This record gives sequence, structure tokens and C-alpha cells, in this order.
Amino acid sequence: MKRVCVFCGSNAGVQPEYRQAAREFGQVLVKRGLGLVYGGSNVGLMGEVSKAVLEAGGEVVGVITEAFVRQDLAYRSLKDLRIVGSMHERKALMAELADGFVALPGGLGTLEEMFEILTWAQLGMHTKPAGLLNVCHYYDNLLDFVNHAVGEQFVKPEHGQMLQVDGDPAVLLTKMDRYEAPKVGKLYE
Ligand code: AMP
Repeated sequence: MKRVCVFCGSNAGVQPEYRQAAREFGQVLVKRGLGLVYGGSNVGLMGEVSKAVLEAGGEVVGVITEAFVRQDLAYRSLKDLRIVGSMHERKALMAELADGFVALPGGLGTLEEMFEILTWAQLGMHTKPAGLLNVCHYYDNLLDFVNHAVGEQFVKPEHGQMLQVDGDPAVLLTKMDRYEAPKVGKLYE
């Protein structure tokens, strides 16, 4: 991987550990020589991770919509801020620019972005790794639900296992480096 796309909350969450983890994740990216692709905003955990990468001298590419720029939500310190017309264009460009995807804690936007990447992966549209940074066990219930969906045969076990999970940024990135995309198709025969 050269660049990692981070999906995360436009809010910072209740526990101070979330902000701290976003900053630490940014620092670890830079230590490993990885660039950041993200939603280009200065708010919540998005702001924390991008500030941490910039402060550590790393590469940041922000991809944001015109509508968010008009609402003054763009992080103006970014040298590389790409402005697009729609949320769909934005996700497509972020996916194209990155070699892997990580969700830090976040809300509906974060979940939607991560599950779209997994949907494209199970259809064989890409073979890039995806991971959850499970800060303070934030994603435990979601992981239980994915296992439930596997048990009920709506998700194949191989597709349920695509998602790499760890609470530690460096361990998560190492798991993603070792990831091999499943070779099974989506449909049950
Ligand atoms: P959420 O998890 O619902 O806070 O949504 C966060 C995700 O949605 C981010 O990864 C962004 O891609 C997108 N998003 C939500 N709010 C913003 C914002 N204010 N500026 C830029 N992107 C946003």
C-alpha cells in the first residue's frame, strides 16, 4: 500500500480515546511512509487524522464535494484538495486514489462508505484490503452482526472475513499488508 483511505466520524465521539486514536493512526501512517486519502474536512475525527498526518510531514489528499466547501467544511490547509460534484463521485475518486481502506469510529457515513468498499470487493471489482480500527471495542456489535449474517447465509464466510480488525493501528496495517482477496464469487450455488 502507498495510500490509505480513511473513513471516520465527522464528529469526535464521547470518549477522548477516539480523538487520540485518530491522531495516533495518522502518525503511524506517516511512520510507515503511507499517504492519507480522506473526506477533506476539518471536523471531528476527520480533522484529527488529517492534522496528525500534516503535522508529521505526511501526504494528505482530501476529496470533498462543492456543497461541503460552500458550508465551509473543507480543511483549507490541505495542498491537495480535490473538489467534486457529488458524494458518489467523491467515493469513486477516494477508492481510485487509495490502495487500502480503514474505518476509524464513525457514524452512518462511515459505515456506508466502508460497506460500499466491501460490496465492491465481494463482487471482485477490486482486491484492496479493508480494515476496522476497533478503538475501545466500538465495532464489536457490528462484527457480531456480520458473523450473524454469515451464519444466516446472506454473506459467505470468505466475504465476512475480508474485513481486517484490530485496536492497534500498526497491527491493523500489517494485517492489511498481508491480506489476500478471496477467490469465491458472491452468489450461493
Ligand atoms: P459520519 O460517520 O456520519 O460522521 O460521516 C463521516 C463520513 O461521511 C466521512 O468519512 C466523510 O466521507 C463523510 N462526511 C460526513 N460529514 C462530512 C463533512 N462535514 N465533510 C466531509 N465529509 C463528510
